[in-house]
Amino acid sequence: MEAEPKISFEDTAVAFSYKSDAALKKANFIFSLVNHPWISALATGSVKLALKLRLPVEGLIRSTVFDHFCGGISIDNCDEEIETLGKYGVGTILDYSVEGENSEHGFDQTLEETLRTIDKAKGNVNIPFSVFKVTGLASATLLEKVQQKVTLTNDEQKAFDRVRVRIDRICARAHASNVPVLVDAEETWIQDPIDALAYEAMATYNQQRAIVFNTFQLYRTASMKNLREAHHNATMHNYYLGAKLVRGAYMEKERERAQQLGYESPIHVDKEATDQDFNRALAFCIDNKQRVSVMCGSHNEYSNYYLTVLMEKHSMKNSDERVWFAQLYGMSDNISFNLAKAGYRVAKYVPYGPVKSVMPYLLRRADENTSVAGQSSRELLLIRKELTRRRSVE
Ligand SMILES: Cc1cc2nc3c(=O)[nH]c(=O)nc-3n(C[C@H](O)[C@H](O)[C@H](O)COP(=O)(O)OP(=O)(O)OC[C@H]3O[C@@H](n4cnc5c(N)ncnc54)[C@H](O)[C@@H]3O)c2cc1C
Repeated sequence: MEAEPKISFEDTAVAFSYKSDAALKKANFIFSLVNHPWISALATGSVKLALKLRLPVEGLIRSTVFDHFCGGISIDNCDEEIETLGKYGVGTILDYSVEGENSEHGFDQTLEETLRTIDKAKGNVNIPFSVFKVTGLASATLLEKVQQKVTLTNDEQKAFDRVRVRIDRICARAHASNVPVLVDAEETWIQDPIDALAYEAMATYNQQRAIVFNTFQLYRTASMKNLREAHHNATMHNYYLGAKLVRGAYMEKERERAQQLGYESPIHVDKEATDQDFNRALAFCIDNKQRVSVMCGSHNEYSNYYLTVLMEKHSMKNSDERVWFAQLYGMSDNISFNLAKAGYRVAKYVPYGPVKSVMPYLLRRADENTSVAGQSSRELLLIRKELTRRRSVE
C-alpha cells in the first residue's frame, strides 16, 4: 500500500487565511486580467507608456499589482506584511528590488540599503534571511570582463576591488548579526565571478554554520557538477555550504544569446531535464546535510513535496534548521502556508522599493502569469477555489 502523502497543497483555506475577502477579490481581479495575453500586453504596454509620459498612474499601480506582489515602498513600510506573514509562521526576506541603478553611487546606495535589511532582520524571527544581487553592487559589463579574463584597466581593477569590499561588508554584517544572506544567481556570462565572490565569502563566514548561501540554477546543464564541486571545496576547506536551489529565471535570454553567438546552450534541452536535476540537487543536499544547508526556492509543488519526503526519509524534523522552503510574495501561498502550518521552515521573498523602480519586477510577474495556452494559471484557479469556498460557508 502506498504511504499517505505527508503534506497537501490543496488547502486554500490555509493558503489564503492571511488574506481578507477584499484582498482576495483584488487578487482574483489582477490574475484574471493578466491571464489574458492581449489584455496583459495592453495593460503592461499602457503602464510603461504612462510612466514614460509621467502620467499619474503610480497610485493605481500601488493599490493593485504593487500591493499584491510587494511589501511596501521602504523597509519600514513592510512592517505590516512582515508581521502578518510571521503570524502564520512564514518568514520575510526583504528584497530591495530596485533594478538598473548602474553607477558607483547607485551601487553604494544598494549596499547601504542591503545593510539596513540585515540590521532590520537582526534578532527578528520573522526575517530569517537577507538577500542581494551582485549586479546591484557591480556593473554587469565589468563582471563580464572578469569572467572573460580580459586584462582590466586600472580603473576597472579599482572598481572590482570596490565590489569585493561591498560584498565583504554585507557578508561580515550578516555574520555579525547572525542573519544568513542569499546571493542571487544571474546570467551565465557573469555568473563565474558571482560564484567566486560567494565562495570567498563562505570560506570566511561559514565556519560555524551556513551564513552565506550561493544560488544554483538547475536549468543549467553545469549546475549539478558545480554543486558537487562546491560541496567538495567546502569539505576540503572545512566550511559549511549554503545552497539555494532554483530552476533559473533567464532561459529565453540564455538560449537566444547562445544561438546568436554560436555556442552550445548552457540550458537543459527541456523542462523534464531541468526538473530531474532540480530534484537530484535536493537529494544531494539532503544526503550531505552534515555540511550543506539548503533552500528550495520554487513554486513547483512536486519539488516542495519531494523535499518533505527526503527529510522524512532521513528522519529529519520538519523544523530542521538546515532546510528552508521559499516562494515569492503574492505567489504559491498554497505551498508556503501549508508547509508552515506543518512546521517546516518557510520564507517569502518580499520585494520592496519605490513603485517606479520595482516596475521591471512587476512586469516580469505579469508576464509569468499570462496564460499561453488559454488555461487559467494555477494561482487563478486557487484564488477562485478559495472565493467559492468562502461563499459556501457564509
Ligand atoms: C525564493 C525564490 C528565489 C529565486 N531566486 C532566483 C535566483 O537567484 N536566480 C534565478 O535565476 N531565479 C531565481 N528564482 C526564480 C526561479 O529560478 C524560477 O524562474 C521560478 O521559480 C520558476 O521555477 P519553479 O521551480 O518555481 O517552477 P516550475 O514552473 O516548475 O518551473 C519553471 C522553470 O522551469 C525551467 N524551464 C521551463 N521550461 C523549460 C524548458 N523548456 N527547458 C528547460 N527548462 C525549462 C525554467 O527555469 C522555468 O523558470 C527564484 C525563485 C524563488 C521562488
